[in-house]
Amino acid sequence: MSADRDSPTVVTLIPGDGIGPEVVDATRRIIEASGAPIAWEECEAGAEVFKKGLPSGVPPETIESVSKTRVVLKGPLETPVGFGEKSANVTLRKLFETYANVRPVREMPGVRTPYSGRGVDLVMVRENVEDLYAGIEYMQTPGVAQALKLISEKGSEKIARFAFEYARSEGRTKVACATKANIMKLSEGTLKRVFERVSPDYPEIEPWHVIVDNAAHQLVKRPEQFEVIVTTNMNGDILSDLSSALIGGLGFAPSANIGNEVAIFEAVHGSAPKYAGKNVINPTALILSAVLMLRYLGYFEQAAAIEHAVFVTLESGVLTGDVVGYDRGTPTTEYANAIIGNLGKHTETWTIRDVKPLQLPKIDPAPDYVRPANRSVVGLDVFVESPLPASELGASMMELTHDTKLSLKMISSRGTKVFPPTGAMTETGDHFRCRFIIKEEPGDLTDEDVYQLLVRISSAHGWMHIEKLQEFDGELGFTRDQGED
Ligand code: NAP
Repeated sequence: MSADRDSPTVVTLIPGDGIGPEVVDATRRIIEASGAPIAWEECEAGAEVFKKGLPSGVPPETIESVSKTRVVLKGPLETPVGFGEKSANVTLRKLFETYANVRPVREMPGVRTPYSGRGVDLVMVRENVEDLYAGIEYMQTPGVAQALKLISEKGSEKIARFAFEYARSEGRTKVACATKANIMKLSEGTLKRVFERVSPDYPEIEPWHVIVDNAAHQLVKRPEQFEVIVTTNMNGDILSDLSSALIGGLGFAPSANIGNEVAIFEAVHGSAPKYAGKNVINPTALILSAVLMLRYLGYFEQAAAIEHAVFVTLESGVLTGDVVGYDRGTPTTEYANAIIGNLGKHTETWTIRDVKPLQLPKIDPAPDYVRPANRSVVGLDVFVESPLPASELGASMMELTHDTKLSLKMISSRGTKVFPPTGAMTETGDHFRCRFIIKEEPGDLTDEDVYQLLVRISSAHGWMHIEKLQEFDGELGFTRDQGED
């Protein structure tokens, strides 16, 4: 987004809950003192809205403001536990399809950590709207829960290209893709495959893949090796909190949620209710989020001025309670005043990155983004609830379905084959997946065939879920189970 120099840019400002109003006030004063031409439209979301009985936590006026301004600076929003309310943060991110969550992690002057002096300076780029955080969950039996991990090829291309574009805008030379593709070959594997497919379009940037558990290990052991890490939603949530601890904690962890239309800037931390109203909290995370916002809006000069002023302030030993202890820390308001006083001064010892405008990737918007030439349904997985041992369930299923178009290939319990017997000692519960494969090859199962099979099964067993087994251009669209050949 580029700034129109003739009129101020209107930004939706959400003070938020707990320490939110304090960090938002500090940040707003600093932005105004920097001379950045921003006008604010203040809106509500979070605890107060939940209390008024709105389960989304985001009122229509706020949605209207964001739809108009397209840029948000927000404080943290509390998520009530246990009343069925959704997180207002997640609602905002998802409503406006802010698919990229950017979390820079950089060593700060004067903030001593076990990693001080090693030059930690990386950016976590986390996919923000898919994966397990879609929150699609079911109790399949009274004792077995299921969560759907949805990863799309399109979403993966968006986030992979975004990571390369972000690296370009900051002049970074390497992008690591962290996935669990070795285990979740289809879901996590999609991001890995797409990352490898698009990486040649960014020849000046070195791409590499790292398995996510090793990424956690490497981040603790040698974090300075990373420049940009792109990863799926839940991996990114965990890795970015880990990373922020390397440089002094959540008080220094900014973030941006960026989509094609809307961008939301906020600290990584929450509402820290125990510090609310005490004027002790560290506002740096939101101030640095505002620096990201000013760059996004094209106010590069003011962004650099604020970043310099934050560094000069920290170098001079003005530090908040989270760094030096709450009995000795500089109060939030005074810390913000010190930064305002240092606007115009330049740090001599710390470099401020020369950032270029970010180019958002343009992705094919078609809903049928992947178009195989051929596809067929080659089988059906039927999930059943049964108290029977696997051998009895298997015998019954074979008996019930022997004269249909499908034959029982195997039964699994939590992803491990238990029928036909394997000789192993797998424990089973009351939740089974029965895999039926079409008898004639090549074949294409019809819905009538599916219906006939379910009628047979229902006569003796309770099923709660079915999944068609598909092939796309000859590639299996499903995984085999542990022990399945
Ligand atoms: P939290 O509010 O982030 O606080 C956890 C701890 O992090 C604090 O107790 C404090 O550590 C430290 N901390 C947080 N912000 C800090 C700051 N600005 N400066 C220095 N230290 C800071 O996490 P939580 O207690 O799990 O969550 C509280 C509420 O916030 C929940 O309702 C949660 O849902 C919500 N939340 C909102 C967002 C968001 O709006 N984006 C994000 C996360 C959580 P010490 O105790 O060690 O001093």
